[in-house]
Amino acid sequence: MKIAVTGGAGYIGSHTVKLLKENGHDILVIDNLYNGHIKAVPDDVTFAKCDIRETETVKEILSAFKPEAVIHFAAFIEVGESTRNPLSFYINNISGTLSLLSAMKESGINKIIFSSTAAVYGNPKKIPIPETETVKPINPYGQTKACVEKALADLSSYSDFRYVSLRYFNAAGADPSGLIGESHNPETHLIPLVLKTAKGEREKISIFGTDYPTPDGTCIRDYIHVNDLAKAHLLALEHLMDGGKSEVFNCGYGKGYSVKEIIETAKKVTGKAFKVIEDERRKGDPAVLVADPGKLKRLLNWKPEFDDLEFIIKTAWNWELNRRF
Ligand code: UDP
Repeated sequence: MKIAVTGGAGYIGSHTVKLLKENGHDILVIDNLYNGHIKAVPDDVTFAKCDIRETETVKEILSAFKPEAVIHFAAFIEVGESTRNPLSFYINNISGTLSLLSAMKESGINKIIFSSTAAVYGNPKKIPIPETETVKPINPYGQTKACVEKALADLSSYSDFRYVSLRYFNAAGADPSGLIGESHNPETHLIPLVLKTAKGEREKISIFGTDYPTPDGTCIRDYIHVNDLAKAHLLALEHLMDGGKSEVFNCGYGKGYSVKEIIETAKKVTGKAFKVIEDERRKGDPAVLVADPGKLKRLLNWKPEFDDLEFIIKTAWNWELNRRF
């Protein structure tokens, strides 16, 4: 099947492209390479360097390739940056998606898989979080994703259009092949930063907040291996192609680890000692985000393969030591 992937040169996008190709799909990657890496795009996919806000160009690219569906990763993702520069997030994530949806409509494509986030829940009351929990983001990043989800729900209710929104918890790890992995510039995510510290590239790792209402005072997150996350996209695609209705799914393992637990596991996996300091809280961080992934398992028969923190960190460490980009 022909599938268009926006942001396919990025971290989760490139792992999903690899899986789609392994399953025989023909892929078009649309990426402005603002954060993505051309080296993450396999030679045998069609590549268009284009910003999704360029509606006309995207329409031409889609009309020429004629995909059955779009998987839409392209977005700004960093919570901290969204609190410093909210307008750029609103423009890129909301206007960008609306532009893409217009181009899709004009090209006759009516199915999308959307990269959403656990950040739409803000500070949830119920842990693990079910999809029915109130959507109440506490940072601009989460707001932009929640706004797009609302637009998708309206398109689905009032036009011939279906979507799956995947609410990612914390994507982590790398493909065991070592060919692709996480590479953000600047890097802000916990696991790669801890590993860069273990490698000696950074002097220390800071723990952002030690006074959260959690057992060790540090934030708890649900870290999901990027290949299990990629699998959720493949299943969501099959669901839409089989005529399934619009749905929202959490993507996580239902298990959380604190910042301190991540650091301890990284020390064990790498065998390295490194400097850790306790720092102020980072703005916009909820204390605990842990998924209830029951719906994804029940409806799409999702079976996680890499639910093992040591394995996740091992694959990230292997990538960190042998990065290609
Ligand atoms: N974090 C930290 N030190 C860092 C980077 C992140 O303590 O140098 C914390 C961050 O405050 C959050 C958790 O690690 O509680 C995961 O953050 P990350 O940015 O990896 O993902 P997010 O949960 O924001 O999507």
